[in-house]
Amino acid sequence: MQNDDCLFCKISRGEIPSKKIYEDEEVFAFHDINPAAPVHFLIIPKRHITSLAEVSPEDGQLLGKMLVLAKKLALEQGCGNGFRIVINTGRDGGQEVPHLHIHVLGGPQPWKRRS
Ligand code: 5GP
Repeated sequence: MQNDDCLFCKISRGEIPSKKIYEDEEVFAFHDINPAAPVHFLIIPKRHITSLAEVSPEDGQLLGKMLVLAKKLALEQGCGNGFRIVINTGRDGGQEVPHLHIHVLGGPQPWKRRS
């Protein structure tokens, strides 16, 4: 089920434009509008799930698929030296958009000292 009023549901339906990098019948991936790293994209389920706090055991396959996809897309986006996965969850978890999403962040990070 999708949610008519949800920003990320609208993005996955193409009603709000985004820089899409992947889509299939279950998931949608697109670049973050306000990137916090040289590579920063989001992976969402098309079905409306508010947050990781709302998932059930039946969602395990979908969540596993999203993580495997995160790795594949991270490599395709040039994150061969590593990347970070973040899933903000709920108010105290810093989640701003109430539709489950995986942040994938990578690319050179000049604020980190390199040896
Ligand atoms: P949260 O804080 O909920 O974990 O992350 C939400 C993310 O969605 C933020 O990084 C924010 O920049 C991104 N975002 C919010 N609105 C839009 C939008 O309309 N389009 C895209 N591509 N990203 C968005």
